Amino acid sequence: MSDILILGYGPAGISAALYGLRAGLDVQLVGKDAGALAKAHKIENYFGLKEPLSGAELAEVGKNQALALGAKIADDEVTDLMFDGQGFVATGLGGTYQGKVCVMATGAARKKQPLPGMAEMEGHGVSYCAVCDAFFYRKKNVAVLGTGEYALHEANELLSVVNSVTLLTNGADVTAKFPESVRIEPRKIAGLKGAGKFEGVQFEDGAETTFDGMFVAMGSANATDLALKAGAAFDAGKLVLDKDFQTTVPGLFAAGDCTGGTLQIAVAVGEGAVAGLAAIKYLREHKA
Ligand SMILES: Cc1cc2nc3c(=O)[nH]c(=O)nc-3n(C[C@H](O)[C@H](O)[C@H](O)COP(=O)(O)OP(=O)(O)OC[C@H]3O[C@@H](n4cnc5c(N)ncnc54)[C@H](O)[C@@H]3O)c2cc1C
Repeated sequence: MSDILILGYGPAGISAALYGLRAGLDVQLVGKDAGALAKAHKIENYFGLKEPLSGAELAEVGKNQALALGAKIADDEVTDLMFDGQGFVATGLGGTYQGKVCVMATGAARKKQPLPGMAEMEGHGVSYCAVCDAFFYRKKNVAVLGTGEYALHEANELLSVVNSVTLLTNGADVTAKFPESVRIEPRKIAGLKGAGKFEGVQFEDGAETTFDGMFVAMGSANATDLALKAGAAFDAGKLVLDKDFQTTVPGLFAAGDCTGGTLQIAVAVGEGAVAGLAAIKYLREHKA
């Protein structure tokens, strides 16, 4: 088990890692790509740049800096996070990763476009966490909204508990291999049925299907999804963090765009530094 497990190797994750590594700790980073930074064409508002760099170049510099200090970096998509009594265990598509403490630095969840009315039905038939809520739907018929590996992970969590799982792709291509027991519904969704409580979906062709619940698993798991699975508290939909960016789960931190603040590299690096230093302090105080 590593000392610090960091999910995401963007500016926030790398920054947290640099502090951990320089404190002589064993640091494991897991990320699926270079995140938001890779999309930035030209960076010229970050400290210390002699001339503008592309986001991809800056990401590469940061990754190499962490590697040079001894970081372990895995390229993998994480679908689950839990505390097993000893430490944090992140499940990826390619393996599991463990750390005595964990920093979530998975960036902003820009891609999750909710369906109209979905937010109001949260907790009333719409769930974002299969491992948390599957039990409430035992022997019932549920839908999973999504198309990829994360949706597959959530469907697999549900299959042993519920009566049936239908994958709602909302017209998008399926990008993971789902078991035959999951029915694939490819039609585009026009809206959700139910007043205040989810009762099913209406498709653009006018047809309707009734479900007891719907699990949202679009794109890949973000910090909100992972924090829910790890049991962290939210207040009005926002992850509860203290001044050190620690969640309500001791030893679980969040930093960078995923905390919902100003979406800038300087801020992500700053939050990563605070969370990284707090993670070191936590390990020392708990002699872990
Ligand atoms: C087009 C564009 C231009 C920008 N221009 C600027 C600019 O000029 N100046 C500026 O300061 N900021 C700019 N930004 C914002 C800046 O890129 C972000 O604020 C910064 O990258 C946030 O860092 P982060 O580490 O929090 O998240 P990210 O950089 O988004 O990194 C997130 C990391 O988490 C990983 N991850 C996410 N989900 C998972 C998962 N399920 N499993 C495993 N890994 C996962 C990703 O692969 C990635 O490694 C721009 C952003 C965009 C999109």
